[in-house]
Amino acid sequence: MNPIIETIDLFQLASGDRLAIQVYKFIGQNPGAKVYIQANLHGCEIVGNKVVHGLIGYLSTVPEAAIAGEIWIVPTCNPLATNQRGHFYATGGFHAYSGEDWNRIFWEHKPTAEQLNSFVEKHLNNDESTITKAYRQQIMAAFKEELAKQERPCGVSVPELFRGKLQNLCLDADYVIDIHSSSNDGLNFTYYFPNRETQAGWFGFDYSILLEEDGAYAFDEAFIWPWIELEKAFTKAGRTIHLTVDAFTLELGSGMKMRPESVAKGLAGIKNYLAHQGIISTATPQPSQTKFLPSKNITRYRATVGGMIGDRLSLGQPVKAGEKLYEILSFNRLGKMPEVITVNSMVDGIVFDLAISESANQGEYVMSVLAID
Ligand SMILES: [Zn+2]
Repeated sequence: MNPIIETIDLFQLASGDRLAIQVYKFIGQNPGAKVYIQANLHGCEIVGNKVVHGLIGYLSTVPEAAIAGEIWIVPTCNPLATNQRGHFYATGGFHAYSGEDWNRIFWEHKPTAEQLNSFVEKHLNNDESTITKAYRQQIMAAFKEELAKQERPCGVSVPELFRGKLQNLCLDADYVIDIHSSSNDGLNFTYYFPNRETQAGWFGFDYSILLEEDGAYAFDEAFIWPWIELEKAFTKAGRTIHLTVDAFTLELGSGMKMRPESVAKGLAGIKNYLAHQGIISTATPQPSQTKFLPSKNITRYRATVGGMIGDRLSLGQPVKAGEKLYEILSFNRLGKMPEVITVNSMVDGIVFDLAISESANQGEYVMSVLAID
């Protein structure tokens, strides 16, 4: 089927030019859930564009009757960041003007404990679809108030303008997938949230990392935490519910790269997820073997002295506690000879991510290790 293609104005630049995004909407013949997928929120993390290009191509061959619900796809969802450069490097992980991380800016519905309790009381015996509908209405009403702020003469910041446009596309969705990569060199994996382990496994990565704490205002988190808080409030009131609302961030390899293996993994994972959710009937759901680990299992190693990084283990390599991870060639201003300092792993695990630079000031990022229990 052909998608409906809609162009959405973002904001105006000083030169008078306007930035826009474009959404590709595949609307199936049968009723079903809404899936929202975006790529390239962080400017240097371009891999998702190739993944969604593959997905747009695939869905264009799928008959309307084989889609239940809607799939909305937004490539290059943050043009200001995608186009940002410093010499050879894509530096659009952060908004250059305010210094804000583009994935820590999002609006999150935060009902008070009182509001949440009164909602639960009112809906304690309702079915899950009624609960979902009613709560979504509350979220959308609160978001409308947030958007109204943009109309005031004092205006809002660029990140606030921007988040309003993106969240306007996704807050009424059932499933949200945000495609990122490492800004450096990383493995393929997904982040997931409490009560959503089975669904995270459908992406078919070797690893899936659980995020357990609210408060980062990342795109996926701002979407899902209000729902998890609602599930918790029901549990407290004596009823366990698992609402069919999901959010995932896929991390696909390296910054400024579209590694074919990461693209293939990402595309296969999304198709399998859509098949499991019953949104597309042209693919057979495949089982997968994913290892689920908490985010505290990731240790980021920062240079303990300033210097040049060498002899570092490679991505995905296993390591035991006490074994060498890397060494630093460190010079001094003390009239002494240079030193080579060895840094060992604190845990048994695998090399999870590597800084692209082999030079580090003391305190700067060198690599990450994922502890495997
Ligand atoms: Zn990112």
